[in-house]
Amino acid sequence: MSGVVCAPMHLEAAALRAPGVRVLHTGMGPRRAAESARRFTGTTPVLVAGIAGGVTDSVRPGDLVVATEIDGPDGPVPLRSAPLLAGALRRLGLTVHTGPVASAESLVDGTEREGYAARGALAVDMESAQFATVPGPLAVVRAIVDTPEHPLWRPGTVRRGLTGLRSLRAAAPALREWCEAAGRGEILRASPRSFCAGVDRAIEIVERALERYGAPVYVRRQIVHNIHVVRRLEDMGAVFVQEVDEVPAGATTVLAAHGVAPSVRQAAAAKDLRVIDATCPLVTKVHNEVRRYSSRGDTVLLIGHSDHEEVEGTVGEAPEQVVVVEDASAARHVRVRDPEKVAYAMQTTLAVDEAEEIASVLRERFPAMSAPRRDDICYATTNRQRAVRAVADSADLVLVVGSANSSNSKRLVEVARRQGPPAHLVDDVSEVDMRWLAGARRVGITAGASAPPHLVEELTRCLAGLGRTTVRDSQVADEDIRFTLPREVG
Ligand code: SF4
Repeated sequence: MSGVVCAPMHLEAAALRAPGVRVLHTGMGPRRAAESARRFTGTTPVLVAGIAGGVTDSVRPGDLVVATEIDGPDGPVPLRSAPLLAGALRRLGLTVHTGPVASAESLVDGTEREGYAARGALAVDMESAQFATVPGPLAVVRAIVDTPEHPLWRPGTVRRGLTGLRSLRAAAPALREWCEAAGRGEILRASPRSFCAGVDRAIEIVERALERYGAPVYVRRQIVHNIHVVRRLEDMGAVFVQEVDEVPAGATTVLAAHGVAPSVRQAAAAKDLRVIDATCPLVTKVHNEVRRYSSRGDTVLLIGHSDHEEVEGTVGEAPEQVVVVEDASAARHVRVRDPEKVAYAMQTTLAVDEAEEIASVLRERFPAMSAPRRDDICYATTNRQRAVRAVADSADLVLVVGSANSSNSKRLVEVARRQGPPAHLVDDVSEVDMRWLAGARRVGITAGASAPPHLVEELTRCLAGLGRTTVRDSQVADEDIRFTLPREVG
């Protein structure tokens, strides 16, 4: 069911009318708002939109405030879909703040604003609180007209009023998106999802290195492929570099989870760096295989993506003998020195079915080819792909939390799409396009092995705020793997 935009004043309703937007004029002030709110007895999504007063100078006339909470009869009421709505408004180029919106009995001016600001509010209106108990999804957007610096009833108030109304008009497409995205439904969460043992270990290594050796601790490349993880560690004192030649001599340096070529270790040794290796032990296993095969003279066919850091590091073990095979077509054409002396290995984060297809082409062409003793695609990649496949089977849409440079996250999107529903990769809720959610009753969620679990929780909360209030976890495997830490931080 599509939602309704409730506008207290005629002028606001006129500004918000746009194709596809159902606007209801609900009347100004608490009494008329309460009368209107009582009409919503079902699960119709309601979006209250209008102008308001700013109570701090952090908001300016014409800015939009998306309420994260409003006043309710028994205290603050959280509005959980706020980050999604704020993201859509920002994509329209509007200036958007998120925070509490308070409601007053009458217009607020002068020192009264300070009281609301002291409570943490960004804006104050006269109607939102009356809608706090509507049974369906609820959102509130207010365009700022007056602020402490630009109070009411001064020259310029009319101009600022028009600025606020213009912002509402510009916001209408995003409000329509919210109205179409909101509605009842469920969330299907794939499990296992999010951090794997190798990522947990790599992050803990940097945290412990900072504790033991003090900031700065240098990290070659992103410790794991996730921007949220990187930013958090930067805030703690980690300094991320591309190459070890950017690190001052003797400094503490962590090598990222994806592994490095021996030449990187040599460069670090030449600078006398205190090196702590966060390479995942399952990547190290692949390096060891490549060393073993190449030392006996084999050509090593490495199934993987040549631009990925893990592959770059693995190739570095024997650059003359390793040939990267990216797809089945490359597997059909690859040339080797001696077909009797061939082995293969794989990047750890590939799509299991695609990698197997490539391997079977190679096996057919090189029957004597040596294979890894155990699968190179790691347990975490395999489990997350099985889990997302199970969820995608019955979802209308799948959202994968992960960064664009995360190989295993991108593979989860591909695996989900192969099951049928549309699937999208998002770094966090701010990247979710609400148009994807229109008509999607069952939304599947997962996260790549490098994406923090709290991002999945945040996405779950936002979708619940849109009406997908039933949450089901679909567990396909238990994971209790832990890797030991290197002695430098153990
Ligand atoms: S995805 Fe697999 S190989 Fe990569 S860090 Fe995690 S456990 Fe290790």
